[in-house]
Amino acid sequence: MTRAAVVGAGTMGNGIAHVFAQHGWEVALVDSAAGALEQATATIRSNLDRQVKKGTLAPEAPAQILARVSTGTSLEGAAGADLVVEAASENPSVKFALFEQLDRIAPPGAILATNTSSISITEIAARTQRPERVIGMHFMNPVPVMQLVEVIRGHATSDATTAQVMELARALGKVPVEVHDYPGFVSNRVLLPMINEAIFCVMEGVATPESIDTVMKLGMAHPMGPLTLADFIGLDVCLAILEVLHRGLGDDKYRACPLLRRMVAANQLGRKTGKGFYSYEAASGEG
Ligand code: NAD
Repeated sequence: MTRAAVVGAGTMGNGIAHVFAQHGWEVALVDSAAGALEQATATIRSNLDRQVKKGTLAPEAPAQILARVSTGTSLEGAAGADLVVEAASENPSVKFALFEQLDRIAPPGAILATNTSSISITEIAARTQRPERVIGMHFMNPVPVMQLVEVIRGHATSDATTAQVMELARALGKVPVEVHDYPGFVSNRVLLPMINEAIFCVMEGVATPESIDTVMKLGMAHPMGPLTLADFIGLDVCLAILEVLHRGLGDDKYRACPLLRRMVAANQLGRKTGKGFYSYEAASGEG
């Protein structure tokens, strides 16, 4: 396997393209928005330059790596791919339509992977004629830095597909972990209830956000407190994932905290809107 197509060139897609190209793959990066492709190329270039400055990459490497990334707005870019990694917007109808098209465009033997955080791999796979070759490759943000890839087997994913994806993730310098397709997989099923409980603590006045984050950082050796992390992920994304867990597992222990709902309604979504549990306005100097 040497040719990848990455569909979706946003936050995750540019990082995924970067990592594949750095490890010698030819990458076709596809996005329906031309502007996203320009932005992605610029981001990959500046991240590669940072690696050169840190001494982890040879000075001539960025040009060689960028030469392996081609960009385009047509899904036909997936026509020659051995592996497609879909990293488009987290919307079931977008992903279902993409997989129906990718199934027609990509070679019959190609593996179709999705970077979804919360949509069922089994449901996505059922949109194709090759569910045994559909799998989750859940990279973490920022992709060039984070080691983990959660490899998610859908109901019909074959052992051979899983083994190939585990092996190629290792060849990308990542640590793959195999999990089965249940709501939230492992990462979000364990993380989001912790974040939600931290928000209940704020709502009930157990402690301030700063105190809660300090307890988890200094007491549990977490690199970042749960409320800082929630602001980083985006409170709307946290709420959406909790709703997937609540609906998919049918257990009220996943019920989203009313304060989280209220903050989302108030458009206090964390870093991206300048305010969440902390304030990120440049003028205030906080955050
Ligand atoms: P993003 O909004 O930054 O980028 C999504 C890109 O997909 C956009 O550039 C958009 O133009 C493009 N797109 C939308 N529909 C398309 C289509 N039909 N064809 C081609 N391109 C299309 O999103 P993101 O944060 O990079 O997330 C991408 C995926 O990765 C989602 O499934 C998300 O759940 C998952 N994910 C995100 C993170 C994170 O921290 N951001 C972490 C792990 C997984």
